[in-house]
Amino acid sequence: MSNYKLGLDYALEQDQKDELNAYRNQFYIPKDNSGNELIYMTGNSLGLQPKQTKSYVNQELKDWANLGVEGHFEAKNPWLAYHEFLTENMAKIVGAKPIEVIVMNTLTANLHFMMASFYQPTKSRYKILIESDAFPSDKYAVESQLRHHGFDHKEGLILWKPRKGKELLDYETLETILKSHGDEIALIMIGGVNYYTGQFFDLKRITELGHNHGCIVGFDCAHGAGNVELNLHDSGADFAAWCTYKYLNSGPGSLAGCFVHERHAYRKDLNRFAGWWSHNKQTRFNMRGEFDQLPGAEGWQLSNPPILSMAAIKSSLDIFAEVGIEKLIKKSKKLTGYFEFLLNTLGEDTIKIITPNSPDERGCQLSIQVKHADKSLHDKLTEADVISDWREPDVIRCAPVPLYNSFEDVYRLVEKLKSILN
Ligand SMILES: *Cc1c(COP(=O)(O)O)cnc(C)c1O
Repeated sequence: MSNYKLGLDYALEQDQKDELNAYRNQFYIPKDNSGNELIYMTGNSLGLQPKQTKSYVNQELKDWANLGVEGHFEAKNPWLAYHEFLTENMAKIVGAKPIEVIVMNTLTANLHFMMASFYQPTKSRYKILIESDAFPSDKYAVESQLRHHGFDHKEGLILWKPRKGKELLDYETLETILKSHGDEIALIMIGGVNYYTGQFFDLKRITELGHNHGCIVGFDCAHGAGNVELNLHDSGADFAAWCTYKYLNSGPGSLAGCFVHERHAYRKDLNRFAGWWSHNKQTRFNMRGEFDQLPGAEGWQLSNPPILSMAAIKSSLDIFAEVGIEKLIKKSKKLTGYFEFLLNTLGEDTIKIITPNSPDERGCQLSIQVKHADKSLHDKLTEADVISDWREPDVIRCAPVPLYNSFEDVYRLVEKLKSILN
C-alpha cells in the first residue's frame, strides 16, 4: 500500500472507490456554526452517533410507555433477555465465543469485578504489572486493588517501561522483567492498544509469556474493540474489558463489554461478586433458595441492565455486523496508511509519528509529536474545524475512523496542519 498519491483528487477518488463510503451518511457528523462539517478525528474518545440509534432507543421508550413492567416479557425486544441480543455481535467484534462475552456495567467497574475474581494475591505472589503509560483509570484501579488486599501500592506495582529515549514498548523488556520477577507477579493487565501511543500489542505473546510465569493475564481493550482484530479467544487471555462509547459508537458513558475465557466458564471455585443477574435464569424469579451460578461471562452480571443504553449499543452493533470487522480493518489500514503517508511529507524536522509504522501493530489512531509545539497548535486546529486530541507536552492524537471518516477528511486535516505549522 505504498502507492498513495498527493493531492485532493486522489483523496476524492479513493472515497469514490471505497466500499464503505455510504456508511458515513449513516452517522451525524458534527458541524460548525456555519453548518460546515467538522473534521472529526476523535472517534477514539467518543464515537459519533449513528442516525438509526434514535429509533432503537425510541422503541424501548415506546414499549415502556405502553407496557410498563410487562415490557420485560412483551416488549418487541423483551427486556429480560435484552443483553442476549448483543452477545453474538459483540463476540464477533472482539474475536470471542458468545459464552465468553457479556455487556454490563462500565469499563473501570468491570476491571474491578474481573480483579475480584482473577487477582488472588498470596504473600509471595501479589504484584501487578501494567504498562508504564497505562490509562490513568486503569492505574488507579490496580493500585486500589493492591491496597484493598493490604499491600503497598507503590511496592506492589511493576511498570513495563520503554527503553531509554523510546516511546514504544518492546517484548524483550517484558521478558526480562518476568525472568527476574515473574514469580512475584499475580496479574499482568495491559491496555490492548495503548491509548497514548496507539501501539497494538501482541496479546497472544503477552499472554503466553505471562502464563509461562504463572501470572493471570487480562487486557483493557477500550482502544481495541471495534478498531483492531483482537482475537481474544485465541489470545488465551484470562479476561478483558472494554468500553463501547469509543470505536463502538454507543454514546457517552454507555455500558461496557467484558470477556472471560471459556476455560473459566464453569469454574465454581473462582471468587466473584454476585447478584440476581448472575443467577440461573430458569429459577431467578423464584426469589428463594440457594444461589445457582450462571455459566460463562454472563455469570459475572449483577443487576438488571439499563435498556436505553443497551438499545444504543444494539444499534451500533447491528452496523458492525452488517459491515463485518474484516472489511472495516481493511479500510482502516488503507486510510491510516494514507494519513501516515501525508504526514510524512511534512518532514522529520516538523513532526514525528510515535505510533508503530507496521499496520499490524496499530489501529487507526496516529499519535503525532509536533516539534516545538504547545497547546496553541491544538487551539488553532480547533479554530480550523478540526476535532483532535491534545496531550501534553507536544502530542496530537488523531483517529480516522473507517466507518465514518473519509480520505478527504484526512487530506484536509493534513493541509490544515501544514498551513498552521508554516
Ligand atoms: C477510555 C478508557 C477508560 C475509561 O474508563 P471508564 O470506566 O469508561 O470511564 C479506561 N481505561 C482505558 C484504557 C480507556 O481507554
